[in-house]
Amino acid sequence: NESLGFWLARHAQLTPRRVSIVYWTSAMECERWTFAELDVAARRLAGWLRANGVQRGDRVVFHDFNDVRFCITMFAAAYVGAIFVPLNFRLAVPELVQTLQDCQARVVVHGRAFEPALPALRQELPDVLTLLSDRESPGAFDAILEDAAGEEHGPADLSWDETAFLLYTSGSTGKPKGVRLSHGNLFWNTINTILIQGGMPDDRMLISAPLFHAAPVSSFLDAFLRGALIHLERSFQSERVLSRITAEKINMVAGVPAMYAMMAADPQFASADLASLRGIIVGGSPVAEALIETYRQRGVTVIQRYGLTEAAPLVTGLAPGSPRAKAATAGLPGMFLEMRIARPDAEGIGEIQARGANVMQGYWMREEDTRAAFEDDWLRTGDLGRIDAEGYLSVVGRCKDMIISGGENIYAAEVEARLAEAPGVLEAAVIGVPHVKWGETVWAMVAPKSGAQITGKQVLDHLQGRLARYKHPTRVIILDELPKNGAGKVDKLALRHRFQSEAG
Ligand code: AMP
Ligand code: MG
Repeated sequence: NESLGFWLARHAQLTPRRVSIVYWTSAMECERWTFAELDVAARRLAGWLRANGVQRGDRVVFHDFNDVRFCITMFAAAYVGAIFVPLNFRLAVPELVQTLQDCQARVVVHGRAFEPALPALRQELPDVLTLLSDRESPGAFDAILEDAAGEEHGPADLSWDETAFLLYTSGSTGKPKGVRLSHGNLFWNTINTILIQGGMPDDRMLISAPLFHAAPVSSFLDAFLRGALIHLERSFQSERVLSRITAEKINMVAGVPAMYAMMAADPQFASADLASLRGIIVGGSPVAEALIETYRQRGVTVIQRYGLTEAAPLVTGLAPGSPRAKAATAGLPGMFLEMRIARPDAEGIGEIQARGANVMQGYWMREEDTRAAFEDDWLRTGDLGRIDAEGYLSVVGRCKDMIISGGENIYAAEVEARLAEAPGVLEAAVIGVPHVKWGETVWAMVAPKSGAQITGKQVLDHLQGRLARYKHPTRVIILDELPKNGAGKVDKLALRHRFQSEAG
């Protein structure tokens, strides 16, 4: 059986004493977890889940920073055949509640850092079992792992079509959508990734990007399946990543452009020893050629990948050692998937579409959105691209109304909906404008109801606690009215023309 649980169970049989995860609890302290230790922990948590009535297909949620408990919860869910739902820890409380309701969570493993949200969650979702996960003081979670007398449960035989993950995206409708990824999706995505990336048994991969995103968790799964050593950081800090690369002779790092830009801007960058790196994997938003050049001058190859959660996530990737002329492209499609450019224009640019065993099963309980995501059996990415004569993809833009800031996707519709709820606001439009550090940032154009007086500050205050901070506009422009196109909709093209050049 190739379902996720067996990835751990087989490693634990074959190489029980091999260290799999080095979990950095602080700058200098770490825990080293062998395959056997991870397996025992997952068996105990799985036993606890079963004893508490968690059935195959139930949703088990993880809500905390990066933590080895994320990995244990993920494998324990797979052991009992439950669906693992990692949450974005930056969500505001109403967004959290909405997501937990949408997936009908049974169990939430909840970090102590997010304790202030607990009373609200318990009130809104009285039937959800909460387990506190924490590293300072052993909470219920750790007590289960330490309980040698408790029930244990090994990996269940699951078919490839059973759902393994629900990964939430905010979605074009402004409501959260759970992307259903099956055990087969995860398996084939990992195979595609490994075949592009290659790898040695003694690889050392550093992960500091948030694991709840598809790309970081897939980097984890790639390294995990190969039995490579995984260094896991609770969160990204440039100076920590730089010194870790040197001290632990890290040879693979995965992240978004904003992370690498912050590392390059770090005072330590010039003197950091980066010789151990085979390359740095980058994706999630457009990659500036200047960034590629900055790292090339330090002898480090930037390896671009392109994908999206709905594809689990890899669509294309540059293989290490690709021709220099292709350095700025997103590489070739994965081995076991197909990619096409739908309805290319005269320059060959059109929507990137993909199909293959990696492509999602659909959105959780959203048939209409699922139908809209496909053209026949091709996944519509909402991204614009061009394929060159050798088959390499360049991502040139987006046809979906989404902004990517610091690697986080922000759907315009969601921010606009919250803005329109603010007192005195008639309608709102948001656009992405270029930003040196974050790639893009959100600007809002807001029109007041007739006779209403509003200020940008009032509008922003309204978003406090309702919308995750990273989605907040960094500038609010009050206009008497918003320009409309022929169909009577807000003419965003006109707004972009007018305001995008002001930023930068
Ligand atoms: P997510 O579902 O969070 O992984 O976000 C996927 C989206 O990120 C894609 O649909 C693209 O818009 C964007 N994206 C991912 N990789 C790249 C890349 N290499 N270049 C440009 N945009 C990218
Ligand atoms: Mg992303």
